[in-house]
Amino acid sequence: MLEAHLRCCDARTVREHRGGGPVNDPDRDVVALLSRLVAVDSVNPGLVPGAAGEARIAQVVHDWARAEGLAAELVEHAPGRTSAVVRGGRPGPGGRRLLLCGHLDTVGPGGMTEPLTPRVQGDRLHGRGAYDMKAGLAAALVACREAQRAGLPGEVVVAAVADEEDRSTGIQALDLRADAAIVTEPTEMAIGVAHKGFVWTEITVTGVAAHGSRPELGVDAIVRTGPVLVALDRLGTAPAARRHPLLGPATVHASLITGGQEASTIPDRCVLTIEHRTLPGTTAADVEASVADLLDRCRAADPALVAEARTLLHRPALETEPDAAVVHALAGAHGEVRGTPAAVTGLSYWADSAFLAARGIPTVLFGPGGQGAHADVEWVSLADTVDCVRVLVAAARRLFSPVPRPAT
Ligand SMILES: [Zn+2]
Repeated sequence: MLEAHLRCCDARTVREHRGGGPVNDPDRDVVALLSRLVAVDSVNPGLVPGAAGEARIAQVVHDWARAEGLAAELVEHAPGRTSAVVRGGRPGPGGRRLLLCGHLDTVGPGGMTEPLTPRVQGDRLHGRGAYDMKAGLAAALVACREAQRAGLPGEVVVAAVADEEDRSTGIQALDLRADAAIVTEPTEMAIGVAHKGFVWTEITVTGVAAHGSRPELGVDAIVRTGPVLVALDRLGTAPAARRHPLLGPATVHASLITGGQEASTIPDRCVLTIEHRTLPGTTAADVEASVADLLDRCRAADPALVAEARTLLHRPALETEPDAAVVHALAGAHGEVRGTPAAVTGLSYWADSAFLAARGIPTVLFGPGGQGAHADVEWVSLADTVDCVRVLVAAARRLFSPVPRPAT
């Protein structure tokens, strides 16, 4: 199917340029690059032990960029965990820099048939990672090349990073500075200015092991965890104290539970992992205080409860001023390309954008539409992917040569 599609694109390009136009066509090139990226296995080994990792796909990005006349380097922050940094446009002393960022890794294939075979049906390109987020990455790379070709008076840097789907070690290993950043995760062509953060907490309930025939000698850690779960459910369903205008309320849920040894033994340990999805402004310490309060209430009701909590992982939320220059540049660029204003929205998922914003870079998310991130059927819209290149180039142009905004 890939070959059939590329033949079709070649034919269209030949038709469009009969009579002598440019040899390279960004529309065709972004689809070809997307297809190449989908065909490379880049499943995150943190999610699927022994999986391919990002070394090969980072090399593909690096080689593509060099062949297109862009500067490129590889950064291997751990064995087999490689990011690629590509630079185009015109860097200059005091010049502006736009960072485009996308991740190279994908989740596992799950039940997907032929996950590494890019298959085109109408406007849809199917394959693992097509939507999340090899299309956004291909659009960023081709936009970087187009910015260089157009001689835009600023630098466009593409960070193609490893490990976003697990621990975000790729983005954390890169020293990135920019005047603005666009993370090209799929946003259905809307401008994402906010997303929640999250905190993972492990609660360990300790009991006393005993023979199942002598329960009076033991303390059942699993049963003692029951009231903790009930309290958690009440917390999750209580009316929210605060609602974010774009993100709604913070949420909490139970994610994992383990405990017990065998059917005939009173269990001495039960380990529960919970996840808080937090609003901008909420810190890990706020969540820790809320969990401590919940456990205190459970202990008050059951003095025999022995429970301890610890934070496993914390990631901050994102909230960028809707009046930031990058939001105006993208909104103007979207209008230029599509003739309609872009929606400005909050996103349900977390992304590496939070790390860029934490470094003081005004950061938004913008990418194509599609469906099936992490699902068994995943596809991205090719029309959106093609327009995404145009919008990114137009946004870079606006950022590098700001048009004065009319006074309001
Ligand atoms: Zn993603």
